[in-house]
Amino acid sequence: MTPAEIAARFGTPAYVYDLDAVTAAHADLRSALPDPSVLYYSLKANPHPAVIGELARLGCRAEVSSDGEVDAALAAGVRPDAVMLTGPGKSGRVIDHALRRGVTRFSVDSPTDLRRVGDHAERHGVRTSCLLRVNADEAAAGSGLTMTGTASQFGADAGWVAARPEEFRGHKTATVTGLHLYMGSNLMDEDALAHQLEMAIDLAARMIGHLGDLEEVDLGGGFGAPYAHRGARPRFPGLADRLTRVLDDRLPGWRGGAPLIAFESGRHLVADSGLLLAGVVDVKRSKGETFVVLDCGVNHLGGMSGLRRLPRVAPDVVGGDAADVVTATLVGPLCTPLDTLGRDVRVPRVSPGDLLVVPNVGAYGLTASLLAFLGHTPPAEVVLRGGEVFDVTRLTLTRTSTSVHSG
Ligand SMILES: *Cc1c(COP(=O)(O)O)cnc(C)c1O
Repeated sequence: MTPAEIAARFGTPAYVYDLDAVTAAHADLRSALPDPSVLYYSLKANPHPAVIGELARLGCRAEVSSDGEVDAALAAGVRPDAVMLTGPGKSGRVIDHALRRGVTRFSVDSPTDLRRVGDHAERHGVRTSCLLRVNADEAAAGSGLTMTGTASQFGADAGWVAARPEEFRGHKTATVTGLHLYMGSNLMDEDALAHQLEMAIDLAARMIGHLGDLEEVDLGGGFGAPYAHRGARPRFPGLADRLTRVLDDRLPGWRGGAPLIAFESGRHLVADSGLLLAGVVDVKRSKGETFVVLDCGVNHLGGMSGLRRLPRVAPDVVGGDAADVVTATLVGPLCTPLDTLGRDVRVPRVSPGDLLVVPNVGAYGLTASLLAFLGHTPPAEVVLRGGEVFDVTRLTLTRTSTSVHSG
């Protein structure tokens, strides 16, 4: 089905996710990773059940960060032993939720976090495997969003672990069995990516010197993807060979799974599977500027691509005259000037009723948006496979009543 047919049938705004694109991205990324290794899908990029289900079917584990993501992973068919709960603020409630559902692999960010996981596991009568998240001492260059090497809420500084390893050895019910290193995100360049992952391997080898042998080393990711504008998913043809050489040198048991090497990806696996179809509601001039008013804005494409800035949204126009281009400000329907999707965007001249297509929004789209703000009905989410509609759903926000206790 074409975007125009989907818009005609399901209305706008609508998200479209093509599972064939997810499958292709997964195959390309797998071939760029050293073998053997495992790959976690980071649900925060897109927790749509069909997307998670597809990646689970392809063999991905799930990296989750909340009670809702635990449930989404399991409901989509990820086995509990393939789920890892991560994040710097895992409350007892969220840890309990995961344990009740059979999840026993945690990334831990501090001795407090490690103790809390251990205490809750003890109450549940289970043992957990904890991957210690470590914040490297030096920053990796060229990262879209640096998550390490600077002051950070993520993980424990490498220097802290080196100086006082006994604080990180774990307990009976929360054993530190691995490392979780996530150095940065959205690298488009193979060289920068390889450099970052080589630093992670080197850090892992040094940490093993302090902590003893480990079962799993999650090297993180940072595999880039374009967001909300045209562009191809980057390829990393030389990455596997480069990393294999460094792994052989620094973690020689890895080929036999000692340690098991893991990677994580959100955006790279799903970004180019997704389109947002938006309808043009109004076009008008104000003080010399052209405003194109759409039926969706930051409530449905929030731009929380994890890059701490508004997206550079550059839609394509269905049926417009490609030669007749105007410079416009793209805005949504919300009653706030912050609802701006793009300034000085070059688009073919459009009129009310026209259809815009925002490419590469399969990651950090709907659920990274201000969905509840102003209460517009969320867009339909249309899933395609083999070019045919496979599944159509719509998220709804409902308020339920909670009993009121006096004390
Ligand atoms: C967000 C996140 C990811 C996914 O990041 P992408 O850039 O979407 O691949 C992976 N791991 C951790 C720990 C994260 O917080």
